[in-house]
Amino acid sequence: MINIAIDGPAGAGKSTIAKSLAHSLGYIYVDTGALYRAVGLNALRFGYDTKDEKLVTSTLSKIKVELKFINGVQKIYLNNEDVSEDIRTPQASMAASNVSAIASVREYLFDLQQNIADKNNCIMDGRDIGTVVLPNAQVKIFLTASVEERANRRYKELMEKNIEIDYNSVLEEMEQRDFQDSNREIAPLKPADDAIIVDTTNKSLPQVINDIKNIVEERV
Ligand code: C5P
Repeated sequence: MINIAIDGPAGAGKSTIAKSLAHSLGYIYVDTGALYRAVGLNALRFGYDTKDEKLVTSTLSKIKVELKFINGVQKIYLNNEDVSEDIRTPQASMAASNVSAIASVREYLFDLQQNIADKNNCIMDGRDIGTVVLPNAQVKIFLTASVEERANRRYKELMEKNIEIDYNSVLEEMEQRDFQDSNREIAPLKPADDAIIVDTTNKSLPQVINDIKNIVEERV
């Protein structure tokens, strides 16, 4: 199977770019952040502190997290409920970052991600895909952009979804999440040694997609 790993901080454009590439290559697009968001949302619904390792770990024995691909579009199910929209709130973002630093959560989600990649040609995006989940991926891309540009993109996305929030809160949340994700002990956000780093600051989306398509064509 052909596996393409796309890692990078929040708002770097991973999902938009990965979706577009997956569509043109006929691969499935796997958004692994959704898995951490589902685990985080579940803990929030219990009213738990999402940084509490014991409490969050206790939720894993009773949880069912599934990814389904409907017409190539990923849907995420938490205990048989489609939570694809509910996981997108800023609260769910922070909860995802908090639970993702917990070893038991990462172990729980590891097999699920590898199984999908074993069975499908896929483009998988996340934070540790090139480093931990798919170390043998044929192509590894690390996408970045300045934090202001990333916050601005995310702010626009949330406005389009009618989620009320101001730009400064988005920026603050993003800085906090990047810091947590980059400084955690297990599977921190960082480029794999063999990843190609693509900076998307001041680049248009079609330009970046085209650059990455060229990289993929060279290697696959
Ligand atoms: O990609 P997204 O912003 O949806 O991810 C939400 C959170 O899930 C990230 O901030 C990160 O803490 C965590 N995550 C992770 N490893 C991945 C994907 C996401 O730790 N492979």
